[in-house]
Amino acid sequence: MRSDGAQDSWIASLRPPVNRDYDWFRPHAVLLEEELDATRQFTRSLVVFLVNRECPWKCLECDLWKFTTLETVPAGAIPRQIEAALTQAPPGGPCPQIKLYNSGSFFDPRAIPPGDDPAIAGLVDSFARVIVESHPAFVGERCWRFRERLRPRLEVAMGLETVHPDILRRLNKRMTLDDFARAAAGLRDHDVDVRAFLLLQPPYMAEEEVLEWTRRGVGFAFDNGVSVASLIPTRLGNGALEKLATEGHFAPPSLKTIEQSFDAALAVARGRVFLDLWDLEKFSNCPWCLEPRRQRLRDMNRLQSVLPPIHCNRCDHDAATL
Ligand code: SF4
Ligand SMILES: [Zn+2]
Repeated sequence: MRSDGAQDSWIASLRPPVNRDYDWFRPHAVLLEEELDATRQFTRSLVVFLVNRECPWKCLECDLWKFTTLETVPAGAIPRQIEAALTQAPPGGPCPQIKLYNSGSFFDPRAIPPGDDPAIAGLVDSFARVIVESHPAFVGERCWRFRERLRPRLEVAMGLETVHPDILRRLNKRMTLDDFARAAAGLRDHDVDVRAFLLLQPPYMAEEEVLEWTRRGVGFAFDNGVSVASLIPTRLGNGALEKLATEGHFAPPSLKTIEQSFDAALAVARGRVFLDLWDLEKFSNCPWCLEPRRQRLRDMNRLQSVLPPIHCNRCDHDAATL
């Protein structure tokens, strides 16, 4: 395997060209979503995708750099983006949660200038919960100070990615399972909730191993006190995964594997487990059953229980109900 620096350069060299000339004073996107909260009520979230400097890591599977800038945004830009998001929020009633997602780490000083923390805390004061994302390496003093400034409850989402130790190392995230566990324990000690992102079928994982590693990943997350585990099917699109696909080291999960993994994850969950349904059609090869399958997974996100499987006589030879 390449050295860390050589691996970074190799991953960066494979990136497709993308126009990253973003307005520093407008969020990249704003949307509303609904999810089950800890009390099993459906709760609306205002999701704000902030424009800010690229994350310092270069993970093998990551395409979030597409939505970031090369330079640190000026002081005051992030509060202005949040103000803009609050005024352009889609209609639909009150929103108890706000997710401030920055395609990296909220507590990275080169991403979100720390001097903006008081203004950000003031802007989100009317929400009940604020959710930000961070690499475990940035979970520390700044996070505790930010939490003290906030009236809403703080939740930090961290990419656990996989608990397969060799694959986690190959993802180039420079994080061990112990690093994740330590950061999660620190967050809990400071009364901050924890969310974990887990990849479904990361590179170097054979399709037949996915269920078992998903179960183990969800188990590890809940063992370490997370309250939400979010499953993300690994997608092509960042250049490095396309290259690994040509070498036989990566294939996106099939919709069947995604469904079975979510079933398996819910069966062992000790908290909420959500499946990311974004671009689900990219994982399907049968237009006849895509929509009922999507609806079943959406319902499972809402109900947190495994529903009867969808059978399709076009792609599934052991049944015929569609
Ligand atoms: S730490 Fe997160 S945002 Fe940064 S490169 Fe890795 S996956 Fe992407
Ligand atoms: Zn089908």
